[in-house]
Amino acid sequence: MGIMGALRATVDQAAFEAFRRSFRGEILRPGDAGYDEARRIWNGGIDRRPALIARCAGTADVLTAVRFARERDLPASVRGGGHAVAGHAVVDGGLLIDLSAMAGVRVDPETRTARAQGGCLQHQLDRETQVFGLAVTGGIVSHTGIGGLTLGGGIGWLMRQLGLTVDNLRSCDVVTADGEFLVASEHENPDLFWGLRGGGGNFGIVTSFEYTLQPVGPIVLAGLILYAIDDAPGVMRFFRDFVGEAPDEVGVIATLRLAPALPVIPEHMHGMPIVGLVVCYAGPVKEGERLLRPLRALGKPVLDAITPKPYLEHQQMLDPAFPHGRHYYWKSRQLPPLTDEAIEVIVEHGLRITSGFSSARIFTLGGAVARVDQDETAYPNRAALHDINIVGAWPSNDPDPARHVEWVRGFWSALAPYAGGVYVNFMSDEPQAAVQAAYGTHTYARLVALKKKYDPTNFFRFNQNISPVGP
Ligand SMILES: Cc1cc2nc3c(=O)[nH]c(=O)nc-3n(C[C@H](O)[C@H](O)[C@H](O)COP(=O)(O)OP(=O)(O)OC[C@H]3O[C@@H](n4cnc5c(N)ncnc54)[C@H](O)[C@@H]3O)c2cc1C
Repeated sequence: MGIMGALRATVDQAAFEAFRRSFRGEILRPGDAGYDEARRIWNGGIDRRPALIARCAGTADVLTAVRFARERDLPASVRGGGHAVAGHAVVDGGLLIDLSAMAGVRVDPETRTARAQGGCLQHQLDRETQVFGLAVTGGIVSHTGIGGLTLGGGIGWLMRQLGLTVDNLRSCDVVTADGEFLVASEHENPDLFWGLRGGGGNFGIVTSFEYTLQPVGPIVLAGLILYAIDDAPGVMRFFRDFVGEAPDEVGVIATLRLAPALPVIPEHMHGMPIVGLVVCYAGPVKEGERLLRPLRALGKPVLDAITPKPYLEHQQMLDPAFPHGRHYYWKSRQLPPLTDEAIEVIVEHGLRITSGFSSARIFTLGGAVARVDQDETAYPNRAALHDINIVGAWPSNDPDPARHVEWVRGFWSALAPYAGGVYVNFMSDEPQAAVQAAYGTHTYARLVALKKKYDPTNFFRFNQNISPVGP
């Protein structure tokens, strides 16, 4: 029997027909038109073949799919936006519960709330909220799924002002591991609501998220300022001092990469290492111009593209740098305020970058993120000031991918002496001990107790997994 025959045999025909009849969305098997497209995710290096792909049209389909998998002990993965770098969204030989057709958003501008379905992407949520001049903290690449992003915490341009995405979560509709439906909020199942705010996809499938919105933009002062790598130590020290003083309305990310061959960058710099600061000031533009003046007066930038622009546009600015289908490998760390030594390490490894598609990004947290009590949500390490994500990326035909992986690992290892924890959404496929370490003993113990209560058989295990049997 070929691989397709074997996969088809996992679920017998009669059971499959019954499943299909009870399902409103589409169900795909190997060999069906659209199957290969539906199993593809953001990381082109992930090539897995589910026995079935259930493209859910609504909550009823999610309930049906969970019950179907449970009854047959089929491994089941859940796909939101498909951005988890380790490919948690797709399982070989099992059932892929695909939420991508569940992308509806409803905004109530009066109460400043939004309800978004679990498979919604960042740009879909942004578009619906920004039409009313509202927003919730979201990721910086707009094709990311709000599902995985929210459940892991949610960091982005607005977090210093508005808090993490989870700090703006009001309630979730949840399909549990035993195929039941629950609402989780401060008032209903508050223990589950705590775990959903940082504990990832461990406790159920969120079919819709309800968020509190805040006025943002629609015009913000934002963009990129770029420098030659020789200026990197000075730029990074400036970054360190600037974020120490900057008001909450300033979102700022430092970035190291090779200069792309764009007309706005002098030709002699194409392919050379560069350092940049990307900012988003979400208050009044005039005030932003005053606040960002020191940054714009720093040294001799190769490019200053900071300008008033729609928040929506800024949210999509980095999309072309992270296209679907390339091969990706990343590692991440949380960092305290940068010391001179940490800066030296960052610049040294930035210089050694091996691919024009790779990059390192240093997010700045603090502000509203750090003001929420640590025990209020399952998101750990609120005191961390930075998150560095070291992203290796290469085309599928690269003859020597190992060198990009080595660059990521070498950079990551060199930062160990300066680092604190790690943001679970920026982890790769790492052992359970690493997940436990990411949460810390106290939060992990609470998460394990919650997992025991809501998913004792570890049905939801294709994620940054919290084991119901504990460490
Ligand atoms: C290019 C890029 C940029 C990023 N930028 C940011 C950023 O700015 N800020 C940030 O915080 N993170 C960022 N991330 C990380 C991102 O938050 C994680 O990759 C996250 O897992 C993406 O969620 P997803 O739904 O797209 O992924 P998926 O791979 O579909 O899902 C990730 C995990 O969440 C589970 N899951 C997804 N949706 C649901 C749901 N509705 N209910 C239950 N479980 C679900 C899945 O089973 C899986 O275990 C970025 C990722 C990429 C690839």
